[in-house]
Amino acid sequence: SSEENPVAAWGCYLSFLPTILTGVGLFSLLSFTLDAIEDTKALARTDGLTGLLNRRAFDDELMIAASRAERYQRDLSLILLDLDNFKSLNDTYGHPAGDAVLRAVARVLLEKSRRIDVVARIGGEEFAVILADTPASAAIRLAERLRQAVSNASSESIGFTASFGVASVQDIKSDAESLLKDADKALYLAKENGRNCVRYAQEPEASMGEVLGLVR
Ligand code: GH3
Ligand code: MG
Ligand code: MG
Repeated sequence: SSEENPVAAWGCYLSFLPTILTGVGLFSLLSFTLDAIEDTKALARTDGLTGLLNRRAFDDELMIAASRAERYQRDLSLILLDLDNFKSLNDTYGHPAGDAVLRAVARVLLEKSRRIDVVARIGGEEFAVILADTPASAAIRLAERLRQAVSNASSESIGFTASFGVASVQDIKSDAESLLKDADKALYLAKENGRNCVRYAQEPEASMGEVLGLVR
């Protein structure tokens, strides 16, 4: 019998080998596939040029942030920024130089925002920062810091600035759509005001001046 015959015993062990190898193989294939799915998911949320979150991920994140803010009655603010006269920058220095500026702006936004803030590129030369647990005054202060940092990132050869719109959730209701609309309105005000400045949606101009004056 195989108990007495070592060769037969080995044969018996070896007969399991295909099963073991198949198991190992299947396990590797499964973990490889799961990794690939994770990578694909991450890529689907990432902007190729800057590495920031893309528009789709931004929409998801804003929705989640707004639901959370409403449910737990927390503050929530949104900063939108759009590069000033970017078309003429492209026309003057070329599209690759424009791309380099977009990457530089992305770096500045990541550097100057807090770790919990969600930074995204939501359009060609438009960016957004979602600020959870942040009231209007702090959001306006951060937007002003970002505005200065973006302008300071200009090199001697290429100058660039951005305009900023800020909005915060009002009292009880915090839906993503109205927050985005308000921030966009504020951004429009900033452009109208001559660009390279921060505007806040809900408050009259005077009280935003007060907020900035108080916090500077
Ligand atoms: P404003 O101050 O009013 O925002 O003026 P603007 O010229 O920035 O606005 P407009 O919307 O007319 O132009 C946006 C430009 O951004 C046009 C487009 O060529 C450029 N742009 C959009 N996406 C990219 C990109 O990925 N790379 C580069 N280099 N340029 C881009
Ligand atoms: Mg622009
Ligand atoms: Mg634009």
